[in-house]
Parts: sequence; structure tokens; C-alpha cells
Amino acid sequence: MKRYQMFVAGDFVDPVDGDAQIPRAKPHDVDLAVRSAHHAMTTGPWSKFTATQRGKFLNAIADLVEKNRDHLAEIETRDNGKLLRETRGQLGAIAECWRYYGGLADKIEGHSIPIEKADALAFTTREPVGVVAALTAWNSPLWFAAIKCAPAMAAGCAVVVKPSEFASASTLEFAALVKEAGLPPGVFNVVTGLGQEAGSALVEHPDVAKITFTGSDVTGAKVYETAARAMKRVSLELGGKSPNIVFADANLELAAAGAVSGIFGASGQMCTAGSRLLVQRSILDDFTDRLLKLARNIRLGDPMDPETDVGPIATPPQFQKVMDYLAVARADGARCVLGGKPALGPGLTGGQFVEPTVFADVTNQMRIAQEEVFGPILSIIVFDTEQEAIQIANEIDYGLVAGVWTTNMGRAIRMSKALDVGTVWVNTYRAYSYMVPFGGMKRSGLGRESGIEAVNEYLETKSVIISVAEEAPDNPFIMR
Ligand code: NAD
Repeated sequence: MKRYQMFVAGDFVDPVDGDAQIPRAKPHDVDLAVRSAHHAMTTGPWSKFTATQRGKFLNAIADLVEKNRDHLAEIETRDNGKLLRETRGQLGAIAECWRYYGGLADKIEGHSIPIEKADALAFTTREPVGVVAALTAWNSPLWFAAIKCAPAMAAGCAVVVKPSEFASASTLEFAALVKEAGLPPGVFNVVTGLGQEAGSALVEHPDVAKITFTGSDVTGAKVYETAARAMKRVSLELGGKSPNIVFADANLELAAAGAVSGIFGASGQMCTAGSRLLVQRSILDDFTDRLLKLARNIRLGDPMDPETDVGPIATPPQFQKVMDYLAVARADGARCVLGGKPALGPGLTGGQFVEPTVFADVTNQMRIAQEEVFGPILSIIVFDTEQEAIQIANEIDYGLVAGVWTTNMGRAIRMSKALDVGTVWVNTYRAYSYMVPFGGMKRSGLGRESGIEAVNEYLETKSVIISVAEEAPDNPFIMR
């Protein structure tokens, strides 16, 4: 097995102490990385580059990601068990994401303001916020690194990435491409290690100005509290318990496929998992039959195998969490109509596989309807009217995404307005794009990633007012 090193100040290095396959950074190692980022941004060559030059580096990274797509996909799938088909597809989008922000770098503009003072000129400039700490979750490390670091670097920031301790290898492999692209040392750094150790040292470091975090709401809240003490900027991409809402007037074939991919894709280990399936009463039996038919045909197996639909649960603690929620759902009175236990059989034994699971008779008050599981467990909740669907969908602490299945255009628009979520998918699900802003309301997070808007998360606006007056004011004690 390969032994990895961290990427700090443009070189691959071991941590100050310790010898592991994936380095366990201590606060001292984090300090070296942040200092190198700070140096790159303040006095190093990065601070002197034009925006167009920065953009060229981002494009060079995009080219290298494209060239190394298969290799990176394999590493990531080996780390987190996501289907190779899916990680390969995602890497295509990751390359394009780097290219998109490469193109944006020299289109970041301030404004001139037609100020109400005749003898003054007012304008704004957009300045990089400072060193960015990017903390990422294990389910899509390279996607998170791209949607955080590409806009940050386009804005002129330098970054220190801390990937999850459960899936660090792909981010370190990616760092080798950054080196190959010839970026000045310190602009992009990777420290690996434990959340409570390397992660918290990074969040607390006085030279970190902005934290962009993807992970659970519990850790996100801790990061937010620490950041608040030093008034650091934060964006948080947290969990969800998303409603996927099927109206009787929907194309039921499409909706059933969307419901299945929304919860069983990636074994349900998605922040966007459509884990609450709201079904209109008049189609409940018909729709449940269609759903179960599709779900029964899911092929569990090796994520490297192109025939596999759904892979394993990524980590032992996550597998245990899924098992615990199966018990919670039953104890609360939900009726298991599919799956409900570990999946065994040829090629599955010992591999942390869970049968695609569907619970019926779920009410929105049950824990299985309110708490994020991050696994292949679907809860069916029945509703009668549009108003009731909105109420159930919004009666939750989370607000990340929602799916709406209907052929009624007016209803689609009314629902999109009424749902308290950052993204509404109408007649589709899991439709991501690095060009479309993404983020949560309520406990699902703060700020937006992707799209042109994301670059604002890494910029401060500075206002400049210049007087063109040649004479001193009549009365210097009156505010001009
Ligand atoms: P997590 O919160 O356990 O860890 C996320 C990152 O934070 C990791 O890098 C971890 O090492 C680090 N960390 C842990 N404790 C820390 C601390 N005290 N200080 C600083 N950093 C610390 O999350 P996870 O288990 O890796 O990921 C699963 C969660 O992520 C789920 O809740 C899921 O919904 C969420 N998620 C959200 C999105 C989104 O875009 N909204 C996407 C994917 C996953």
C-alpha cells in the first residue's frame, strides 16, 4: 500500500512526528501550512499575479484533472466505496469546475458609484478575504475541494485543505497535479489527520481568515462557534433530511426512478438524500408498488464493478449508525416493507452492505423522519393536499434540497416558492452543477457554493471615496 505525505509549501512532507500511511498532522504541521499560505498571499508571487495569470493556473489544473481522471476516480472509490462509474463522472465535472473558475478569475469586478457628492469619486474593489481553510467530508472529497478551492483561488486566496480522515488519499493525489501545474508554493496545501486535532487547529489558527466546511451539522456548529470568537468568515454545507414530494398528477415512472436514485444512490450517503418520500394519498398503493419493484432490482456489489448499482456503507461507524436507525424506526412504529437488515450473499459478506430499505406508515414526527441517517433508508409519508405537503416538507430543522414531481406548472412554481430549502428539483433529483448556487437554509448551513455567486464567499468589498476638490471646505467640522 502506498504511503502518503502531506502537501505543504509546494512540497510533499512528513508530519513533524508520527509515521503512518496517511499522515496525522499535529498543530505544528497545520501552522507550517497556514504560514506558507499566508506568505503566498501576502508577499509571495501569488499576490503579484494578475487575475488572468491566476486563471491560467486554474485551467492548467483542469487539464491535469482531465488527463488523470481514471486514476483519481479509482483512488477515491477505493477510499469511500462510491461507484467507480459515479466518481469517474464526477471527475469530469470537477475538471470543468476548475476551468469555470479559471475563466471567472479576471471577471471579478468592483463598481463605480454615482455618489451624491459633486466633488468626489466613489468606487469599490474586491479583495481576497485571506487564507482559506477548507474542511471536507468523506463522501466526495475531490468535488468539495474543487467547489471550495477553485473560487477561492480565482479570488486570489491561498488555501489549506483538510480532507476527512476516512478519505484523504484522493486529495493528496490531486495535490501532485497542483505541483505539476507549477503553482507557486503555499497557494494550495493539504494537511491530513483527525478532525479534533488537525481540523480544530486549522479552524483556530489566527492567520486563517475564512473557513469553508462540509460535514455534519454537529461539527459545523462547533466550527461556527470557534470562528465567531475571532470573527472569521464561514460558509457551512451541512446535512439534510430532504423531502421528495410526489403528486398524483406526476409522471409516476419518472418519479419512481427519481425516488430510488434519490435515496439509494451512493447507498444514501449524500447530504441531498431524498430520505422523506411524501406521496399523495390517491396514488399511494400504485406508487409504492412501482418504487418497490425498482428497489428490489438494485444490484449491490463491488463499487469497481460496472454492473453494480449500489456499493457498501463507507465506514464501520457509519454502518453502525444505519443499523441503529433501523431499530429506531421499528421502535417508533414504522412498518418495514423492504430490506431492513445487513445485505449478505456472494461478494457482500463482511463488506458493510445494507439492503435498500423502505419504511411505510411513517409520520413526520418520528425520529426516522426528522434525523439524518446517511444511509439507504427511505421513509414514506402520506399527504392529501398541496398545503399539507408544504407543511410536512417544512416542518424540520433542515433545509437543503427538495424534489417535486408534478406535471402542473403552476403547482411546480408554487411549491418552489413555498419550500424552505436552498435547491428545488422539479421532475428530477440529484441534478448538481458547478454553475448553479448550492447551499442550505436553516440547520443545513450558511452561504452558497458553485456558480458565480460562490466567489463572493472569498472576497471582501473595499470602498474607496476620492475627493477631487481643490479647496478646503468652509467648515472642516461638518461632515462632508
Ligand atoms: P464530519 O462533520 O464528521 O467531518 C467533516 C470534516 O470536519 C472532516 O474533515 C473532519 O475531519 C472535520 N472535523 C471533525 N471534527 C472537527 C472539529 N472539531 N474541528 C474541525 N474539523 C473537524 O462529517 P462527515 O462524517 O465527514 O460527513 C458526513 C456529513 O457531511 C453528513 O452530515 C452530510 O450531510 C454532510 N455533507 C454535507 C454536504 C453539503 O454539501 N451540504 C455534502 C456532503 C456531506
